Amino acid sequence: MDKISVIVPCFNEEDVLPLFYQEVTKVLESIENTTYELLFINDGSSDHTEDLIKLMAHKNKQCFYYSFSRNFGKEAAMYAGLENATGDYVVIMDADLQHPPYLLKEMYRSLKEENYDCCAGKRIDRTGEGKLRNFLSHSFYKVIQTLTKMDMDDGAGDFRMMTRQMVDAILELKEYNRYMKGLFSFVGFNTKWLEFHNVERQGGNTKWSFKSLFSYAFKGIFSFSSTPITIAGVIGGILIGISLITSLYSSFVHPISYLTSLVLFLSGIQLIFVSILGQYCSSCYFEAKQRPIYIIKNTNKKLRS
Ligand code: UDP
Ligand code: MG
Repeated sequence: MDKISVIVPCFNEEDVLPLFYQEVTKVLESIENTTYELLFINDGSSDHTEDLIKLMAHKNKQCFYYSFSRNFGKEAAMYAGLENATGDYVVIMDADLQHPPYLLKEMYRSLKEENYDCCAGKRIDRTGEGKLRNFLSHSFYKVIQTLTKMDMDDGAGDFRMMTRQMVDAILELKEYNRYMKGLFSFVGFNTKWLEFHNVERQGGNTKWSFKSLFSYAFKGIFSFSSTPITIAGVIGGILIGISLITSLYSSFVHPISYLTSLVLFLSGIQLIFVSILGQYCSSCYFEAKQRPIYIIKNTNKKLRS
């Protein structure tokens, strides 16, 4: 009998958790010849999320919870889930029912019968999301695909079922700055995509502000690509060329105001490049510290690591 582990990162999800539990257990119980474990990762919630998941764990012996000592972010929550899942197949899904539970059945079938290593959900629209966020996300995935040459598609999220072998490969990647979409692509394996329409979250609010989305996007780029440094070098070279030409020209005409704006422009460019270098240095700095990715305050399950 196969065991399916379902990892659910939760940050202030009291409004939707009871419905999520009902929907997901209904599907899991209908998949033949399998057992399941539900791993709720409470990522430092300040509402009643912890009470709710404790209640579920009390009612259902296949339910487990891990409560973090503070909010460490969804990446850390997913990592904690992967480290502690004991199933033959492992699922990551959001608590807000934006990842349709009915797909789990098809995911399991694809892994089991079609021999895929991973079966992932892919949103084919972004209904219920703001136009600006939609546009920015779309542009970000275009940029990151060009810079990293990795397959990171817009619409492809973290919602997926993986074999134990793929999960173990991901766990080998112990970096502190985690960008899961990049890690999935890095480890490779055979992935089948199941398309679904986006739905609005079934309760509560999104945990992502524009600021956090931007910092997540930059984290993605800087942890998977060194192309920005190369671009900086190329632009530097071009600017030196331009400045040689303009200095020859200006030695005849002396356009003071033109020079002032040129100096301002060049200092701006230099600051941007210093900041790009700084991003890579700070990544090294955090990797070198080897701080834990998350800290568990309490759980009802024996920790695997
Ligand atoms: N989440 C988390 N920690 C955080 C932010 C979010 O564990 O710091 C969880 C959240 O509870 C949800 C999932 O990550 O289960 C996705 O979050 P959300 O729905 O806010 O993201 P969106 O769907 O808007 O991208
Ligand atoms: Mg959501």
